[in-house]
Amino acid sequence: MPQILKPTCLALVLCFIFSACSGGEDADIKSERQVFAMDTLMQLSAYGAKAEKALDLAEDELLRLEALFDPELETSEVYRLNNGETVYISSEISKVLELCYSVYSTSGGMLNPLLYPIIKAWGFIDYEYSVPSDDDIAALLDNVTFSSVDITNDALTLPSGVQLTFGAVAKGYASQSVIDIFAKNGVTSAIVSLGGNVQSLGLKPDGSNWNVAVIDPEATNTSLGTLSIGETAVVTSGGYQRYFEDSGEIYHHIIDPRTGYPSDSGLLSATIVCVDGALADALSTAMFVLGETGTLAYYNEFGGFEYILVTQDGRVLISKGLTDSFTPSEGKSYEYVNLS
Ligand code: AMP
Ligand code: MG
Repeated sequence: MPQILKPTCLALVLCFIFSACSGGEDADIKSERQVFAMDTLMQLSAYGAKAEKALDLAEDELLRLEALFDPELETSEVYRLNNGETVYISSEISKVLELCYSVYSTSGGMLNPLLYPIIKAWGFIDYEYSVPSDDDIAALLDNVTFSSVDITNDALTLPSGVQLTFGAVAKGYASQSVIDIFAKNGVTSAIVSLGGNVQSLGLKPDGSNWNVAVIDPEATNTSLGTLSIGETAVVTSGGYQRYFEDSGEIYHHIIDPRTGYPSDSGLLSATIVCVDGALADALSTAMFVLGETGTLAYYNEFGGFEYILVTQDGRVLISKGLTDSFTPSEGKSYEYVNLS
C-alpha cells in the first residue's frame, strides 16, 4: 500500500494576511465565514453592513457549485455526461467548457478536462492512491482529445470513454462567483481564500492594498514572499498541494496530458495573478505543466496575466508586472529573479 502523505500546508490555506481593522464605522466591520466545499476549507471575509447577508448568499453559492461540478455526484451534470447521458447543458457548464477549450487550445492541450479517467486511475478523485500500469495509462490517453467533444451543442453527448472533470478550474470559477455575489449585494471590500485560490474585491476598507502570501512549496507552512494586490485573483497550482508516495517516489496531482504521468516540467509551483478568477485557475494548471519556457512564451503571446514560478532548481521567477508588488521573505535560499 502506498503511504499517503497529508499536505502540511493547511495553516497556509488561509494564505492571506489581514491587518486588523480599526475604527467603528460600518465600512470597517469585518464579517467572516468558513465553508467546507470542494474538498477544501474556504475562508471568506467581507466588510461593511451588507457583509453578513452577502456571506449567506456566498455560502449557498459555494455549495451549489460544489454539487454542479462534482463528477462523483449522481445528479450532477458532469456525472450524467460522464455516464453516457445526453445532457442539455446549463449555461454555466457551457461557459466552463468554453474557458477550458480556450486554454486547452492556446496551451497546446496542457489544460485538459478530459483527463478525468487518468486522474481517477491515480486515485486523486477518491484518495485510493495507486500507480497505474503504463498500458492502462496508454489506453486511457486515447480518449483525451478535446476536439472529439462538440461543446457548441446544447444537447451534449460525450463520446464513449470520454469523461470530464473541472477540478482544475472549479475553485477559480467559484471564487469569481462569490466575488460577483458580493459586488451585486453592496459589498465593496472583501477577500476569499479557497485553498490555493485567493480573490479580492476592491481594496481594504482603509483604501490600502491586500497582502497575499505565496506559499513556499518546499516549506509549506511558510511563505516565499508577499504580493501587494488591488482587486484581482491570485491562484497557485503546486505539486505540494496533493501527492502520495509509493516505493520512494512522489506522485503529485497535476497530470501532463502528453504522458498521463504527474507533470515534470521543472516547476514546484505556478502562481497566476489575473482579474478573472476562473481564468487564473485555468492558467495556473496550464502554466504548471508548460514549465518555465512555455510559460514565458505563453505570456509573451497572449498576456492578460502575471506570474510567479518556483523552479525545482531553486529559483523564483517573477514576471515583469509583479516586480514592484512582490516582496521576498527573508531567510529563504531561493534566487529571486525579476524578469524583464
Ligand atoms: P489545480 O490545483 O487548479 O492546478 O488543479 C489540479 C486538479 O485538476 C487536479 O487535482 C486534477 O483533478 C485536475 N487536473 C490535473 N491535471 C490536469 C490537467 N493537465 N488539466 C486539467 N485538469 C487537471
Ligand atoms: Mg487550476
